[in-house]
Amino acid sequence: MDLQEPSRFPDRAHCVQADRADPFGALVDDFDLPEGVIYLDGNSLGALPRSVPPRIEEVTRREWGEGLIRSWNDAGWIDLPRRVGAKIASLIGAQADEVIVADSTSVNVYKLLSAALAIRQDRSIVLTDSGNFPTDLYIAQGLLRQLGPSKQLLTVDRRDIVEAINDQVAVVMLTQVDYRSGEKFDLAAVSARAHRAGALVLWDLAHSAGAFQVDLGAAQADFAVGCGYKYLNGGPGAPAFAYVARRHHDRLDQPLSGWLGHAEPFAFESDYRPASGVNRLMCGSPAVLSMSALDAALAVFERAEPRGGMAGLEAKVQRLTELFIDRFESRCAGSGLRVISPRNPNRRGNQVSIAASDPEHGYALMQALIAAGVIGDFRAPDILRFGFAPLYLRHVDVWDAVETLARLIDERVWDEPRWRQRKAVT
Ligand SMILES: *Cc1c(COP(=O)(O)O)cnc(C)c1O
Repeated sequence: MDLQEPSRFPDRAHCVQADRADPFGALVDDFDLPEGVIYLDGNSLGALPRSVPPRIEEVTRREWGEGLIRSWNDAGWIDLPRRVGAKIASLIGAQADEVIVADSTSVNVYKLLSAALAIRQDRSIVLTDSGNFPTDLYIAQGLLRQLGPSKQLLTVDRRDIVEAINDQVAVVMLTQVDYRSGEKFDLAAVSARAHRAGALVLWDLAHSAGAFQVDLGAAQADFAVGCGYKYLNGGPGAPAFAYVARRHHDRLDQPLSGWLGHAEPFAFESDYRPASGVNRLMCGSPAVLSMSALDAALAVFERAEPRGGMAGLEAKVQRLTELFIDRFESRCAGSGLRVISPRNPNRRGNQVSIAASDPEHGYALMQALIAAGVIGDFRAPDILRFGFAPLYLRHVDVWDAVETLARLIDERVWDEPRWRQRKAVT
């Protein structure tokens, strides 16, 4: 059977067969997923790896409860940001000493955008796309407000980014995968374009890390941030990561110069001296419990490595998303819903987005879908978003999800008032 061909899934039995042949198939048991749920929202909050609860129990009871403050040394808490950073580095084509885990993605955008602007002091513009994830835009706005009128934020449409890169641009700040459409920037090509114009690039890999192959080293990317709680499965509010290419380490200067980013925090000097490399990106004390959860969650990627690693996971996700699109188009044609994600799998992240011609229908349909056990999410104004985490999704899940979607559309569930009530988190 040629698994690359989605048309090779004429029925559910073929999906079952593909799951049996899937080298990553056994890894679904590494996750504690509730019975009867098809989880298509790992792009917002990854599922719970079974390795996490025992680790949290251990860190809480033994390391904290018994070890008390001694555990900063004895249990290696103080090195967690580097240790976990090194694990993430191996998933994104970075060197172990180029990645550190700290703070949230938003805070890391602040630190790295500041650092990038400090390196390109002679230039004035931060270029980004107008559809970038709001927190990236908000942080850039806040930072540039602070820096005063000599620096400017230029936002242009995604399609015009490459054209807009010129010799005024200090930093190109982009999220690789568009959170609405799932469209993916070519990381290497855009980085190269920025470098030719003398600009630096800051990539947000929130929907990339742990999702598909990323090679920051090959792309010679300058800076990157990413999320611990999405495809890396670190749990709600897990700390984020920050990457800085080694060639920038000596000049790396960031404004949140807290004591743990000091060269010798326990010398308690009154003046700041930066620690080496990415260590200076640390600000205050690491969130040991959350970081331990993320650390334990990453074990599943180590188990995925001999089965094909990120390259194999990327191939699997392309099959899953193709299957979803294929089934959606044959089962839900004429429903007023249409796929807005790129058809070319190389230009698509691990996500399929479907726009509803009537936004109210879209919201209600997602609520009904979640109640029926197929969990995706809704992004205003009109997008139903489905994320495909290749570690724990099976081909049959995709098949069954579309069957449920088709049934709810046939039933016109959006006519039912109970699905129209808006919740705080969509
Ligand atoms: C999810 C996401 C974030 C999240 O930022 P936090 O500070 O961790 O809440 C940032 N950027 C992008 C592109 C995201 O998708």
